[in-house]
Amino acid sequence: MELARMTWEEVACLPPDCVALLPVGAVEQHGPVLPLGTDAAIASHLARAAATRGNRVLLPTLAVGVSHEHRQFPGTLSVPPDQVRDLAISLGRSLAAHDVRRLVFVNGHGSNAAPLAEAALRLREESAYAFVFNWWQSIPETIAALFPSGDAHGGAVEASAMLVIDPESVRTGRMAHASADRGARVPWGEFVEGVQVAFDAAEFSDLGNVGDPSLADAETGKTILREAAECLDRFCSWLAAQRDDVLRPPSSRR
Ligand SMILES: [Zn+2]
Repeated sequence: MELARMTWEEVACLPPDCVALLPVGAVEQHGPVLPLGTDAAIASHLARAAATRGNRVLLPTLAVGVSHEHRQFPGTLSVPPDQVRDLAISLGRSLAAHDVRRLVFVNGHGSNAAPLAEAALRLREESAYAFVFNWWQSIPETIAALFPSGDAHGGAVEASAMLVIDPESVRTGRMAHASADRGARVPWGEFVEGVQVAFDAAEFSDLGNVGDPSLADAETGKTILREAAECLDRFCSWLAAQRDDVLRPPSSRR
């Protein structure tokens, strides 16, 4: 079910174990191959798939996130972490006011993870049970097995997913160019003695990709999306099955 297509009377009838899904993305450079809205597209795809089952409600996608680390590239939109946190809290409160108290932030972008986790903790104090599903963290073994040389941003993982979700948005003609960039073969960040000393994509990639999108293919994308969607589905089922007193923080020990 899609919240924006429901009426208030229908929402009022939702059962207490209903799970709401909020896709959270970003509008930020993804190298020369992938579109700026990649993170929102993947998060929306996964949340929409999960919302087709059980008593689940798909919320409108929060399309812009914390993308300060990509600001040097044109088209990147960024809002401060506090704004993402506060917006997530406000949406959670809006739902909880009418007894939709189970919420999953389906996140497509790394820098949104911390403010969303903060929002989830705050909501938990108010008897609204929100959790952060960072989709790429749901299937680490699958991603490591598919791309053993690593992949961080605008590389093979996201390009494979986008070849399934929106193939026309993938600039395959730019893949060779992106593959030749210094960013194609480095992890995210630069480190000296274990200390991170570079933080922006522009410091370790000329074209913005951190990973090699030329290694992508649609079959791999189907595997990645199917496994992540199954994980999300299992998590939503778990969340729906929990009693409130299990989800609630412990009361005072005094
Ligand atoms: Zn991305």
